[in-house]
Amino acid sequence: MKKRDPIFVTQPALPALDDFIPYLREIWDSRILTNGGSMHQRLERALCEYLGVAHVSLFCNGTQALITAIQAAGLEGEVITTPYSFVATAHSLLWNNLRPVFVDIDPDTLNLDPARIEAAITARTTAIMPVHCYGHPCDVRAIQQIAERHRLKVIYDAAHAFGVRDEAGSLLQHGDMAVLSFHATKVFSTFEGGAIVCRDEATKRHIDQLKNFGLSRDGSTVEFTGNNGKLSEVHAAFGLLQLQGLDQALAKRRLIDQRYRRGLAGVRGIRCIDGVGEALGNHAYFPILVGADYPLQRDQLFEHLAAHGINGRRYFQPLISSLPMYRQDPSSSADNLPVAHRMVEQVICLPIYPDLDHDSVDFIIELVAGAAA
Ligand SMILES: *Cc1c(COP(=O)(O)O)cnc(C)c1O
Repeated sequence: MKKRDPIFVTQPALPALDDFIPYLREIWDSRILTNGGSMHQRLERALCEYLGVAHVSLFCNGTQALITAIQAAGLEGEVITTPYSFVATAHSLLWNNLRPVFVDIDPDTLNLDPARIEAAITARTTAIMPVHCYGHPCDVRAIQQIAERHRLKVIYDAAHAFGVRDEAGSLLQHGDMAVLSFHATKVFSTFEGGAIVCRDEATKRHIDQLKNFGLSRDGSTVEFTGNNGKLSEVHAAFGLLQLQGLDQALAKRRLIDQRYRRGLAGVRGIRCIDGVGEALGNHAYFPILVGADYPLQRDQLFEHLAAHGINGRRYFQPLISSLPMYRQDPSSSADNLPVAHRMVEQVICLPIYPDLDHDSVDFIIELVAGAAA
């Protein structure tokens, strides 16, 4: 067998460096490096158009955007969220002195299970913070109904859901706000970066103040205990350039997704999670679930792949609710989260990124299918 380079779960798709130089020259010429310069303004407009949303406020990273979205919503007390996510989801609540209350997930989507939300609502609950895990849409309608019935805010951690649509348009239109991450590992990247998508001009203005120390619009005074969440001109420029190649990158991801699904369809004990449908998803991740009827245990398959240079990820193990700063909470008990505990023992995210060649995809399929043959 020929020697292969190791393959990792993701790899950023970089545009040609030469294509970035004109952007840098423009920034050098302008002498405006940050604080909402022209690149920043252009990227906000371009993203509104590309995503099909009304208002976008750029941030230096997704975590700061989450923290600020919660601050802007004026939440108190308890917020219902999922244990099955990246730790930044819950951390953003702790940073706002809120108590994350963990609710179990749906075994089919791995997203917050709406049927279990109401039992966790107390007099102190002020919001729901679901995650569109792996870019697969939450049951946004059921969540909205619960929120309206109990007068709760809904803030989506949409860090995986850039560009995902449903029948009504952008998935990011749901909830009071949706928060994106533009980290290097995400589908759309500004190296580090993020954004809040919100519904109205007043909220956007409030958020823009909060990310700039809480300064008033004319800078003459300080109105809020804001933070520094600004995205620099260089990062914004990179976003503008990346946006140009994004449809092509997403199309390449889609082909890889299709190839995996076809190749793994008949493999006993392996389940591919159904996404939003081929045309509407962003194919950010390719999670498979290793069932009891697969001959290897999940960790054995993980090691088998690693031994052949295929480095998947066991996202999101450990569960957030199992981490030291969360596990004392009563909602973190394994009894409260049986599905999350079961699913997190089954998942492997396989490599998927625009430049992953189909030969490698076939090799990965063979490794997974071969062990089951
Ligand atoms: C990446 C990610 C974040 C954090 O975004 P950063 O830009 O890295 O700060 C938050 N939530 C989820 C679900 C993520 O995957």
